[in-house]
Amino acid sequence: MEYGERLARFRQAHLNPFDKAPEQHERPEVPPAPERRPDPSPGDPEGSERPMDLGLAEDHFSRPVGLFLASDVRQLRQAIEECKRVILELPEHSERQKDAVVRLIHLRLKLQELQDPSEDEPNIRVILEHRFYKEKSKSVKQTCDKCSTIIWGLIQTWYTCTGCYYRCHSKCLPLVTKPCVRSKVSHQAEYELNICPESGLDSQDYRCAECRAPVSLRGVPSEARQCDYTGLYYCSSCHWNDLAVIPARAIHNWDFEPRKVSRCSMRYLALMVSRPVLKLREINPLLFNYVEELVEIRKLRQDILLMKPYFITCKEAMEARLLLQLQDRQHFVENDEMYSLQDLIDIEAGRLSCSLTEIHTLFAKHIKLDCERCQAKGFVCELCKEGDVLFPFDSHTSVCTDCSAVFHRDCYYDNSTTCPRCARLSLRKQSLFQDTSTEAEP
Ligand SMILES: [Zn+2]
Ligand SMILES: [Zn+2]
Ligand SMILES: [Zn+2]
Ligand SMILES: [Zn+2]
Ligand SMILES: [Zn+2]
Ligand SMILES: [Zn+2]
Repeated sequence: MEYGERLARFRQAHLNPFDKAPEQHERPEVPPAPERRPDPSPGDPEGSERPMDLGLAEDHFSRPVGLFLASDVRQLRQAIEECKRVILELPEHSERQKDAVVRLIHLRLKLQELQDPSEDEPNIRVILEHRFYKEKSKSVKQTCDKCSTIIWGLIQTWYTCTGCYYRCHSKCLPLVTKPCVRSKVSHQAEYELNICPESGLDSQDYRCAECRAPVSLRGVPSEARQCDYTGLYYCSSCHWNDLAVIPARAIHNWDFEPRKVSRCSMRYLALMVSRPVLKLREINPLLFNYVEELVEIRKLRQDILLMKPYFITCKEAMEARLLLQLQDRQHFVENDEMYSLQDLIDIEAGRLSCSLTEIHTLFAKHIKLDCERCQAKGFVCELCKEGDVLFPFDSHTSVCTDCSAVFHRDCYYDNSTTCPRCARLSLRKQSLFQDTSTEAEP
């Protein structure tokens, strides 16, 4: 028999054993039942229609906050056994026996509800490019991204998308309508760089931008919440007032105040935060005039790029895994112009300058002091042929952009017309070319 059908029958019979005074087999150690269950969460689509609320709150297994533990299932089984025994002991067809039978039905329904109906659900489910993995963790208390109610890990099956960390009840999986933002991150890894680009509720037809539920600013029929990242309006199920730093505000205004964003934007921004997709020099070149720290960071990054060739040709440095110091910011060993939003957040907080200076010092120490092999790759200024060995990342030097030779800055400025090394190299090339061309003649 279907649960709903059983319930309907139960209702028709107008039998409610729980209206009466407690039976004598009531377990004494159980806390008193609550007057009513706490309000369902705002986004709960089923609301109070859920079977758990139907009179069952009165039985002695309910906890005041609706929290169920593993022992509840065990207790329920015990109670079912006890109830069966009571039914057999009571006089047949007596009112009390009928009550006990109804109670037994209730206990069984509740057990069914509590027990995981889906132990053998698949471990992986792919829906709209999400890759949902069944969660093993039972202890964590999470909120379902679909229905916005709590996921009771102990008794409910739930899944998390490995791409975007969307998590939801197993029962909510078929209702997921939003494709995984991970694919958006990999296919179109570009931020919205207009600050809160609003076009108004009317352009959304007074509906939630995600689930299309009707919304309005007056809260009728439900509240419209604006996402500061997309500028769009969402319902309270799709917008939980999460706070995030907005890339457009950071880049245009150097403003890192977290703003309210929708769930979807939240996930997208979280996935994007470490991705080096911001070419500051192009998006807002003026920023370097106003934010001193940026100039400092740019210099450190340029130096590190100049140090990199030493490390990738030095066995010792490779063994010491020096470059791994930057493994969290891979782009710092690749270029000096791309920034992630996390870089900007850390620059603003002063963290990046500290850690990068430390790494810079460590790198320079290896090349100039600790490692003979790297030391041997220093330069002598070919213009004055005097002074210490020079390295391209030294502060008082200039590097020839064509051949990478290093000179004292002062010497190089004086002779800015010719680089002696380039001149030598081109001479050699010329003679080589002459040799081959004479050889090629018949
Ligand atoms: Zn759910
Ligand atoms: Zn996903
Ligand atoms: Zn919505
Ligand atoms: Zn070395
Ligand atoms: Zn010199
Ligand atoms: Zn040169």
